[in-house]
Amino acid sequence: MAKKIIYEPSRSLKQYRLLTGRTSAGSIPPKVSLRTRLCCSSGGHVHLNIPLISAAMQAVSGKRMAIALAQHGGISVIPCSIPIDEQAGIIKDVKRFKAGFQKDVVAVSRDDKISGIAKIIKEKGYGKFPVTSNGKGDGRLIGIITRKNFDIREHAQDRVSQHMATKVITAGVGISLHDANMKMVKHGIDVLPIVDKRNNLKLMVFKKDMEKHLDFPNSSVDEGKRYLVAAAVSTQPADRKRIDAVISAGADVIFIDSSDGYSDFQAETLKYIRKRSKSISVVGGNVITAEAFDFLAEAGFDAVKVGMGIGSGCITQAQKGTGRGQATALIDICLARDDHFSRTGRYIPVISDGSIANSGQIAVALALGADSVMMGRFFAQFTESAGGLRQHPTMGPLKEYWMEASARARNYGRYETRSELFFEEGVEGFVPHVGSMYDHLGETLLKLKSSFSSAGCKSIDELHKDSVVELQSIAALEDSDVHGVITQQLFSQH
Ligand code: IMP
Repeated sequence: MAKKIIYEPSRSLKQYRLLTGRTSAGSIPPKVSLRTRLCCSSGGHVHLNIPLISAAMQAVSGKRMAIALAQHGGISVIPCSIPIDEQAGIIKDVKRFKAGFQKDVVAVSRDDKISGIAKIIKEKGYGKFPVTSNGKGDGRLIGIITRKNFDIREHAQDRVSQHMATKVITAGVGISLHDANMKMVKHGIDVLPIVDKRNNLKLMVFKKDMEKHLDFPNSSVDEGKRYLVAAAVSTQPADRKRIDAVISAGADVIFIDSSDGYSDFQAETLKYIRKRSKSISVVGGNVITAEAFDFLAEAGFDAVKVGMGIGSGCITQAQKGTGRGQATALIDICLARDDHFSRTGRYIPVISDGSIANSGQIAVALALGADSVMMGRFFAQFTESAGGLRQHPTMGPLKEYWMEASARARNYGRYETRSELFFEEGVEGFVPHVGSMYDHLGETLLKLKSSFSSAGCKSIDELHKDSVVELQSIAALEDSDVHGVITQQLFSQH
């Protein structure tokens, strides 16, 4: 017989609702802040401007998703089930996409061919290149070449020196970002090289980065104004190389990716990461009990991810019989987190992972104590997800969505310690394609703010302290869904 049998059933997030609290002029939706703590950091916490994380899944989090979500204020976790070079390449691309001062820019030499530049433009999308004495980002600046300086049909075989501009406006090291931007505006230029006294290139400032910042003022950025991005790694010893690669690629946070994070392997992996970098934040998980939270908290993790067997395409519970209703797991763990905080003064953020696909469920997860939510299916439905777009004759446009333990993804590291022990714990499938995140995420965020407002809360901290959440009966849940009406959609399908 089991050591302990719990007779109280575990509950899903779908079974809870928020009660209303008194709404004031200060808690109407436009006044609500969705800013949250993602994880602890050496200087306090890493913050997001919206509490949303895209899942570490091949079908979801690639470069496009990572940029789009960071622009909206969230963060993506690049999966560890893809080759190390590919994962590190995505992280580098995201970190390079926008910055205040760009380091490590791609430079060219005066003798390079225009055809070589056209290739970089096509592959990387960069359009402006410093020309330096050694063709590297730290050489002496001798000019600038942009895509406007040549016509590839006419000039492919020409040299850079034939087309570059040599009268270049520069600024000295030490200029502030604000002054650099103002200098570009004053001179009507798109790029400003920052050079030392000997005219050696040190940094670059691009006008398009300033514009991106103005277009997405809510974006989640590091102290260098570059977008935040996270990397998943497994606990497998073979993944130590991956850890080194994602740290040098510039990942802001590492998520240890395991379907069962209550293991010595998590603590060992954390120790290894700490040896490589003292400053990078590390998220542990996934766990579903308070005991497992305490284990990860004692080990020194910076955030803990909660959820097992409840992802939309997950078959773990059928295969292994392990798992727990997400609301019960969250309540148990958030109580342990609060207790840990009152004992130690260290607030370890909790991430709710799996089974969430709409603003109502996000609001319930946050009210039950989560600081942010990770979603797979929800993000898969957008154009920016990494899965392909398919057209179905009757169901319309669909996005491919395959789980990490499906035969397609074969994420050995997340599920087992050795590849020969792997078996499927997830399905391959599709979700309806709704369009671009740029057109649709705003509506979800508005609904979320509206939930906060109805609960009388204007922040996640207030939701944690002041909201009232109630378990619903089956009859109450039936009332809460459309009932007794033949919807227009059903009508059209028949
Ligand atoms: P969703 O948001 O309900 O689609 O769930 C996404 C979450 O499911 C991910 O963040 C993972 O924690 C989990 N997951 C991903 N792949 C699998 C799998 O193959 N089996 C079980 N869970 C999975």
